[in-house]
Formats: sequence, C-alpha cells, structure tokens
Amino acid sequence: SDNLQYVSDSIRVVPGFPKKGIMFQDITTLTRNPKAFKLCIEAFVERYKDQKIDVIAGVEARGFIFGPPLALALGVGFVPLRKPGKLPGETIGAEYQLEYGTDRIEMTVESITNGQNVLIIDDLVATGGTLGAAVQLVEKVGAKVHEAACVIELPELQGRAKLKATNVPLFVLLEKE
Ligand code: 5GP
Repeated sequence: SDNLQYVSDSIRVVPGFPKKGIMFQDITTLTRNPKAFKLCIEAFVERYKDQKIDVIAGVEARGFIFGPPLALALGVGFVPLRKPGKLPGETIGAEYQLEYGTDRIEMTVESITNGQNVLIIDDLVATGGTLGAAVQLVEKVGAKVHEAACVIELPELQGRAKLKATNVPLFVLLEKE
C-alpha cells in the first residue's frame, strides 16, 4: 500500500554499519518522522486489535520502541525481554547462536503467566535467532505465542524458515533486500 511504501521510504539504509559488508536498516529515521511512526503502529494495531492479545513482549533494544505504543493502543501490558543481567528478581533465559559465539535474552519469570496469548515484537528479523530465543522464553512459562511481529524482514537470511520450526507465525510490514 501507499502507507507501507511511505513507512519503507522513511527507513535509512547505512552501508558498512556496524561493520563492513552490512547494509544497516536504520529505523531511527522512521521513528523521528511522526507520520511514518504513526502509520507503522497503525498497521500493527489493524492486524492485532481483534486477536485477543493479552500481553506484548518486546525484544531489547528496538522492540522497546515499537512494542509500547502498540501495547497502549491495544490496551494490554508490555514486557521487556532483556540482555543478560538487566532485570531484577527471578529471571529465566534463552540462548541463541551468533555468527561467533552465543547471546542470551532474559525475562522476569512472573511477568507472563501460563495460558496468556503473547505477541512478540522486534524491529527486524534477519537470521531469526533473536525471535527464536524470544519464543522459547515465552513458551517456557507456559504462555502461547500468538505471532512474532517485525517492521522489517531480510528474507535472504532465512529467518522465516528458522521460525517455522517453532510453529509460531511471523508477520512483517516490509521486506527489504
Ligand atoms: P537475527 O537474530 O534475526 O539474526 O537479528 C535480528 C536482531 O538484530 C534484531 O534484534 C535487530 O534489532 C538486530 N538487527 C540486525 N540487523 C539489523 C539492521 O540492519 N537494522 C536494525 N535496526 N536492526 C538489526
């Protein structure tokens, strides 16, 4: 649609960031454009308003930008899935593979409860490692992941195929080369 094209055009591509060979999708040019930011959140609201979502779980760091406005619009809570050691209280974690080594995200145990219908959100899916770990975390506490949502998918990196193994649907607003 014209609206999604406008959102897409608002995203700056930065070659060579954070390292050589990467074409970085910079969503800060989207969020500082109020029309683009609004259209982006409205597209998610349209998809999820009648889906009985109980809670939105956002992945650090850019899931913290898109998750809360959507949570407010849907009238549900927002739960952060964070880098290790950031959350107080009892946490659980899930590890995932990076190109070199592993990374981990954590969640406060009681922040999502058994049987809740959870929407996971992040800005971008590349290899799907991050979203896969987010799904594992939410499922560990007995909740159902309704869907994983992102603004941008990089289809070449096959994140969709990786996520298929979890049986959680992936919804994206935009596909980028
Ligand atoms: P994945 O785990 O799917 O390989 O990588 C996705 C994660 O890396 C997301 O949390 C996302 O924020 C970050 N990421 C990777 N590449 C980009 C990019 O080009 N732009 C932005 N904004 N985030 C990226």
